[in-house]
Amino acid sequence: MRCAIISDIHGNLEALQAVLADAGEIDEIWCLGDLVGYGPEPNACVEVLRSREARCVAGNHDWASIGKMDTADFNPEASEAAQWTGAQLTPEHRAFLEGLPVQLQAGGMGEFTLVHGSPRDPVWEYLTHVSAARLNFSYFQTPYCLVGHTHVPLMFQRPWPDDRAADYQTVVPEAGTPLALGQHRLIVNPGSVGQPRDGNPDAAYMIYQSGAAPQGRGGGSGGRGTLTLRRVTYPIASVQQKMRQAGLPSRLIMRLTYGW
Ligand code: ZN
Repeated sequence: MRCAIISDIHGNLEALQAVLADAGEIDEIWCLGDLVGYGPEPNACVEVLRSREARCVAGNHDWASIGKMDTADFNPEASEAAQWTGAQLTPEHRAFLEGLPVQLQAGGMGEFTLVHGSPRDPVWEYLTHVSAARLNFSYFQTPYCLVGHTHVPLMFQRPWPDDRAADYQTVVPEAGTPLALGQHRLIVNPGSVGQPRDGNPDAAYMIYQSGAAPQGRGGGSGGRGTLTLRRVTYPIASVQQKMRQAGLPSRLIMRLTYGW
């Protein structure tokens, strides 16, 4: 099984198309929320993901855009973009966003939990630091949990077999280098397709490649597959032009240039 793990598309159709083209032939798309908000083409992004039968969970911007979440805690630009997005969405796409679950299980053996923010608080908590990540490992049962929301590619690794706080690790994945899945439990963030915030403006996502079927009794530790971070260039200026035409806040337009 080969899957594209994408998150935080934020209505950026060019970035989404570039990522799907880069992924090539895949069996499934797993989407960790924030399909819309910020970017100029929310309907087209929802359309692409529906037509590809992506497995999606809800993000805070999806909920804010359809009025399912109050934007009082959003910054002014995010709130303005959510209002704008809500006015664009077709009734059909609103209903689709409304119906998204906050958590899903995926993978050939259901080994991945998918949420937007964190397993403890699926739509809102930001997992930026290992201390918060550590507390979250008891909130999901699968070996691996995939999260988005921070727009920064990152992995948190639980030590094995002991649970000593000092042994938890934060790993910044390197694009193009496959990470072998093994006995360690992980919380993994693939970064953002449509609005990267790690200083690299290229769209970010991950490829999951499942391992070969275990051979003989007991299987073996090498059969769990790999995760690979990928970065993809896309026509940023074209997206920015559409955002200007839509009258979206200039700070949101500028940040795409720098990936912050
Ligand atoms: Zn987001």
